[in-house]
Amino acid sequence: MPRLLQPTVPQQQPEWPDPERLDEVRRTLEASLPIVVPRESDLLKRRLAAVAEGRALLLQGGDCAERLHTSLDDVERRIDTLSRMASLLSESFLLPVVVVGRLAGQYAKPRSSAYETRDGVTLPSYRGDSVNGPEFTAAARTADPYRMLRAHQAAAATMNMVRALVGHRAGSPDTHVPEEMFVSHEALLLDHETPLTRVDPRTGRTYAGTGHLLWAGERTRDPDGAHIAFLAGVANPVAVKLGPAAEPDELLALVERLDPDQEPGRLTFVVRMGAGAVRERLPLLVEKVAASGARVGWVCDPMHGNTYTAPTGHKTRAFDDVLDEITGFFEVHHALGTHPGGIHLEMTGQDVTECVGAAGVGHEDLPRRYESSCDPRLNRGQSVELARRVAGLAAG
Ligand code: PEP
Ligand code: MN
Repeated sequence: MPRLLQPTVPQQQPEWPDPERLDEVRRTLEASLPIVVPRESDLLKRRLAAVAEGRALLLQGGDCAERLHTSLDDVERRIDTLSRMASLLSESFLLPVVVVGRLAGQYAKPRSSAYETRDGVTLPSYRGDSVNGPEFTAAARTADPYRMLRAHQAAAATMNMVRALVGHRAGSPDTHVPEEMFVSHEALLLDHETPLTRVDPRTGRTYAGTGHLLWAGERTRDPDGAHIAFLAGVANPVAVKLGPAAEPDELLALVERLDPDQEPGRLTFVVRMGAGAVRERLPLLVEKVAASGARVGWVCDPMHGNTYTAPTGHKTRAFDDVLDEITGFFEVHHALGTHPGGIHLEMTGQDVTECVGAAGVGHEDLPRRYESSCDPRLNRGQSVELARRVAGLAAG
């Protein structure tokens, strides 16, 4: 019997209240300048080819959810923190570190539940600043397509600061500035991503214009789904998040869809299994993918499999679990003779209190400076300490 092709309804999309406003926003985005250009995405693809081949490490990090309003100080501190971490890793592993921010576009969030209930009141979940607001009111939680225009402006302004700050060593001698930095986000909101694709006149290939590297999240990585179809249609380097339930056949299907030509640097798998599962679940995945001949990059996200609710009610993550998942990830790759290609973190350069267990943050400190509108981030001290500890794995 022939397989019936059903039109796939994209997962995790907001319920836009007004189709006309949505059309107007899509047309405005189509007529707007992109955030990045194909030449830069091609350069990142070459850098990620080195990661896949064991000649470089990837350091990817930033907010879980960027806010539309951000400050120069915030952007500067994030870049500076990533830069310090990159130096520590580079010096110990003796490899170049490719720095990629979760930055200038990370405004849309997948949610495990479409609705949230507090004190008997049920409202739509917060889906990121490009969709609605985090405040628990009906007005804030109503999806507004105009927010995509504001997100595009915020991304452009943030990228402008990245371009101004990166590569310029004008600051104080102990300000770290990477020489090169790329931006990335989850390609979730198809009404935002699709109108901002652009054809490269040099090659005729289509590129996403919103970021250099785009990824599909754990909830939208169905090989037959709309998000993978979108990523398959753009020439940027792409990544896919993999949770503990990921099966080898799904990975092979993703390789077939996203990297049929086995282009070096095209595909990175970001594993987020949890500290308790990585040593058990990861080996078979890496083995099967390697046996297929695919040459993907492997990166560890030690955040999303290690989230729990603290006694204060805050969503948090423990530094030791984060470090343990990375350690397990390295152990698995060392045992298989494959390359542990890097780390993907939720982190900030500010001294927030969202994750516990290093830099003097305990459960009782969480209410003091919990500023994330979504998942908890490592603060500046925790991020640098983590890089120091991961650097220690180079010798082992
Ligand atoms: C995220 O990176 O914020 C996220 C939602 O991750 P995942 O898709 O891995 O759950
Ligand atoms: Mn997150």
